[in-house]
Amino acid sequence: MRRDTLAIHGGVKNDSETGATVVGITQSTAFEYKTAKELSDVFAGRAPGFIYTRIANPTTYALEQRLAQMEGGVGCIATSSGMGAISAAVMGLLRSGENIVAGAGIFGGTVSLFEKTLGRFGVETKWVPSDDSSQIEAAIDEKTKLVFIETIGNPKMDVADIEAIAKITKAKNIPLMVDSTVTTPALIQPGKFGADIVIHSTSKYINGHGTAMGGAIVDTGNYNWKDGKFDDIAKLAKRAGQFAFLAKLRNLVYRDIGVCPAPMNSFLMLQGLETLGARMDIHCNNALRVAEFLSGQQDVGNVRYPGLATHENNDMTKKYFDGKGGGLLTFELADREKAFAFIDGLKLAKTAANLGDAKTLVIHPASTIYQEFSDQQRARVGVTDGLIRVSVGIEDVEDIIEDFTGPSPE
Ligand SMILES: *Cc1c(COP(=O)(O)O)cnc(C)c1O
Repeated sequence: MRRDTLAIHGGVKNDSETGATVVGITQSTAFEYKTAKELSDVFAGRAPGFIYTRIANPTTYALEQRLAQMEGGVGCIATSSGMGAISAAVMGLLRSGENIVAGAGIFGGTVSLFEKTLGRFGVETKWVPSDDSSQIEAAIDEKTKLVFIETIGNPKMDVADIEAIAKITKAKNIPLMVDSTVTTPALIQPGKFGADIVIHSTSKYINGHGTAMGGAIVDTGNYNWKDGKFDDIAKLAKRAGQFAFLAKLRNLVYRDIGVCPAPMNSFLMLQGLETLGARMDIHCNNALRVAEFLSGQQDVGNVRYPGLATHENNDMTKKYFDGKGGGLLTFELADREKAFAFIDGLKLAKTAANLGDAKTLVIHPASTIYQEFSDQQRARVGVTDGLIRVSVGIEDVEDIIEDFTGPSPE
């Protein structure tokens, strides 16, 4: 099955009991067994079965199967949020005293998790521009256990050369984790280019309507856990093979930190997936039109959209996303005052801290997501005082452009 067919039919068998054509919401915390022995066998992994929704749930399992297929991966664990996915995946790999090499233009929440929260537990992060593979290579040392990048940096809007980075991490036997939230499996399957683990915040385009939080960890099957740098997972790999990392997460880290999604939310993600391909096409077409329009505006500077021929990574956009630049773009006005006035003048676009919604959303990153960052940290991710980020929705693009034309803030 191809992309758009998998998004609708992937991983799910019809409900043979009722004939329902939609995966049911199994709103049950626990699962009953006839005998104590049966439940004991499931706990020990000697028999398959669901135990408790914090570990696994039938609705969530259906979502995991579909996402794994769409990514061409060996398996998936769905989480309560994108941050939950990154937390569980990273905590499943790193120990105190070890470090992560991460792209410098990535999502503010991930920067905070790595620097502030994981930093408290002795995990260090080295920041390097993700579109400069040689700097990534130079930053890796004997204590590096993970390289973390985003497909398109949010908010920096830079595009990483995944294949080149994967060559480096493979040579050093370090897993490459790629956050594909802003591209989704509709635009790229990072595993095809050598990524080992794919991360999604499903709260964004996969949900698509701003109605539920969620995340996902996909193991692409590229990393050889048996001969990897992680003793505990290598030991497990003797029994679990390429499922070792996901087994380690499900039976330990994911279970212990409690980042399971609500079954209702998994249902909403399954529904969102059905229209993902069609929506992403519209997001990309609309964003390109808006980027072109903004580029022609007098007071607007530095329109950053990877789908524009003028973007410095446009060759990467062609190579990895078939030329489609996604639904996000940024641009700069003279200063914070001008940016605020512009945002306040919008009638259609909503001022909100989200992306990937059907609705067009705008935000002033410096005063919101990056509020608590130092000037130096903001500069590293390319967030200036006049910067505005737009998540271009799937409304009629003429209406979006009309909204952006609006009365001048002067
Ligand atoms: C939103 C986002 C996250 C975090 O996801 P949540 O679901 O909000 O926890 C991670 N990475 C990227 C690129 C994001 O845009």
